Amino acid sequence: MREAKNCVGVGATHSSVVSQVEATPCDVSFSGSGSACLARNLDAQIQIQRKTIQRISPVVFQQGLFRYQPLAVLNTDEVAELHRKADIIFVDYFAKYTTPPPAFASLLSRLHYPVELATAEWVGFDVFRCGSTGRLVAMPRLRANGRFSPAYRYNSVKSSVSRLATDLQILEQAGICDYLIAMELTYPEEISKMLKCRELFDRVLKLAEKCLRVFVKKLEKRFYKGDKLSVYYNTHIWATHSPHQPHLHHHLNFPNALKNKQGELVRFQPYFRDLATLRMLWREAIFEVFGQVAPIQNVVINVRYIPLKNRPRLIHRLKYCSRRPTSDFFEHYAEDVCPDENLPFVQRVLCYSNPRRHLGWRIGSFPNLKEIRSRMVNVCRCPLCHSVAEKVENADLRGFTLVFWVGVGWCKLEPPPPKGGGNDR
Ligand SMILES: [Zn+2]
Repeated sequence: MREAKNCVGVGATHSSVVSQVEATPCDVSFSGSGSACLARNLDAQIQIQRKTIQRISPVVFQQGLFRYQPLAVLNTDEVAELHRKADIIFVDYFAKYTTPPPAFASLLSRLHYPVELATAEWVGFDVFRCGSTGRLVAMPRLRANGRFSPAYRYNSVKSSVSRLATDLQILEQAGICDYLIAMELTYPEEISKMLKCRELFDRVLKLAEKCLRVFVKKLEKRFYKGDKLSVYYNTHIWATHSPHQPHLHHHLNFPNALKNKQGELVRFQPYFRDLATLRMLWREAIFEVFGQVAPIQNVVINVRYIPLKNRPRLIHRLKYCSRRPTSDFFEHYAEDVCPDENLPFVQRVLCYSNPRRHLGWRIGSFPNLKEIRSRMVNVCRCPLCHSVAEKVENADLRGFTLVFWVGVGWCKLEPPPPKGGGNDR
């Protein structure tokens, strides 16, 4: 499993463009008495946002003349630099997921699904003032038109990922541990292939859950004397780069802290020097749960270590694990090559909700962490550098520099020169 190629980020470290959409929602309410003026402001605000969307859409989606307009391409560091100097409208690749690419549209119509179910619209912007740079960052807000849009229920994924990242950072703040161990476990092809069979699908998923539990037990016993881990995981059923193909695997995320027999949290050394033993444990778990399915040569285990201090990477990782399968159809399904026999499987993939599950102890159950927690939750963050930020309601977006993802980097378009009249164009 490799993470999407466009995993670049802004800030001190590499993270994905997806991660930069992250922001804790902080709602401003316009209700209450004496709100006529506020309502007028809101109206003006909506007008400005609409005009801005009209102005930047052709550029971002490279329509008409803008297709031929050469624009400067920036790398991650240059975007970070720009964030220090200018207010930015930031359109990451996710915000470009408004229309399904032709191959995916064709696949949907073969399944007799209306293509509209995969579309989304820009409905406005969320604007933040970054506490570190003092600059404003505006992110397009997406509304999905149906369940096959990658934006479908995206806000709930975003906030749940943000909460988990905060919980993990609490452990770091409390001096308990310092790394997130990110582990990938794959199954042999013979097991993945069973997902194509409708009668076996649910059963295979159930067994996979069990298999993971068995593995975690073995891991705790073999490496940590039976002390307990806290493991968050997602089970993916599709292959990232060929999402119409079954590929059963788990993404595990756990901090390097154990709950010992006395009920205390203690750090452990995060690096696995002995990958062969890990692989052996995983193979054993598969054998125990699925039986002697196949010569399990090809099980893969990847392990990486993410510093808990590094929020952009943390967020990126957790979002990557929780993303909708449809994102991969938008990103990687370049030709409609899915064989007819896979269509029922694709149908199940598209309806797969990819829930995040949990094993072991929970951070919330330690009363001594509550104080730190109360300081860290519900903090609004800059979508670019993840510093503390505040939400801004009445931003005039006309002077903002547009930065949008073009597959190889970020294109930049300076704002139009101000015209005395104060009109948008
Ligand atoms: Zn910032």
